[in-house]
Amino acid sequence: MKAAVMYGPNDIRVEETEKPDCPQGGLLLKVMAIGLCGSDIRNLTTDSRKGNYPHIYGHEIVGTVTEVDVGVTRYKVGDRIYVYPVEHCLTCEACRSGHSENCENPGNYTDRQGGFADYIAITKQQIERDAVFMIPENVSFESATLGEPLSSVYACQENVGITFGDTIVIIGAGPIGCFHSQLAKLRGAKTVIMVEINDYRLELAKKFGVDYTINSRKEDPIEAVKRITDGKGADKVISANPSTAAQAQSIFMARKGGIVVLFGGVAKGSMAEIDTNYIHYNNLWLYGHYGANSVQVQKAFELAISNRFPTDKFITHILPLSKMNEGIQLTKSGEAIKVVLLPNE
Ligand SMILES: [Zn+2]
Ligand SMILES: [Zn+2]
Repeated sequence: MKAAVMYGPNDIRVEETEKPDCPQGGLLLKVMAIGLCGSDIRNLTTDSRKGNYPHIYGHEIVGTVTEVDVGVTRYKVGDRIYVYPVEHCLTCEACRSGHSENCENPGNYTDRQGGFADYIAITKQQIERDAVFMIPENVSFESATLGEPLSSVYACQENVGITFGDTIVIIGAGPIGCFHSQLAKLRGAKTVIMVEINDYRLELAKKFGVDYTINSRKEDPIEAVKRITDGKGADKVISANPSTAAQAQSIFMARKGGIVVLFGGVAKGSMAEIDTNYIHYNNLWLYGHYGANSVQVQKAFELAISNRFPTDKFITHILPLSKMNEGIQLTKSGEAIKVVLLPNE
């Protein structure tokens, strides 16, 4: 089969490689479409596996079942499925408390072959836990790939209660920032303010419910947010970018008693200098966010494939897997919002 194999930072070769076997108690999936995620790009362009290569990444996976092992009854050949990359055990304390995003024994996609390939093995554990969902007949494979990236956005907004009348600041107009904007509007937010350093991205973001755009290279984003909010600050601020400087700024954009979420991951080991006294005196709530619980994963997928969610606007580029490097450049430059790759082209 063909796969995009990583040999080191920025060294990705689309080449012939061995097709995986159908695992015991599992199934073999023909990958029909796969999203290219910001985290994939970070992993592919840095020494993410500390020299442990070759490796195949890719976790926004949808496809068609081509083989099932004996004894598998839930799925059959021909089924169209979406696979969430982390399967939760649903028996540990975190899972039982409703917080499977904090599962103590999760199956981790980074330990397995990913989906930037013609085929991927789906294990017995993935099938038996909470990671596999059927794609309805009327839904395209491309749309179904949005289930995964939407899941953590969905979970975050549910957890911090983004709701009717809210004023939201989103820092970072990448695909995730655009998801945040669109979802905030669906949840009833009154005003969405987008802060970003790239004018092209800011312009694109306007399609997703953004009311005000601020280029933080051209004006002070804190002053701009204050001006838009009559000097008060926003109800909720979401930092959805890899900058510690943006994290440090984010707290000053929230109103007294407001919520600040550190959503985007930053380079491992880097530190943000945060004015904790400001957090203290302004009664701010500072949250970290990562992942989604089992039910949020399901609900996010249902939303992603529903008519209420404009998947076509988000997916700006559909490319064959062989053009993955192009997809990375398009995403990095801000020209693409969401790139979907088709391995079996
Ligand atoms: Zn992703
Ligand atoms: Zn668990």
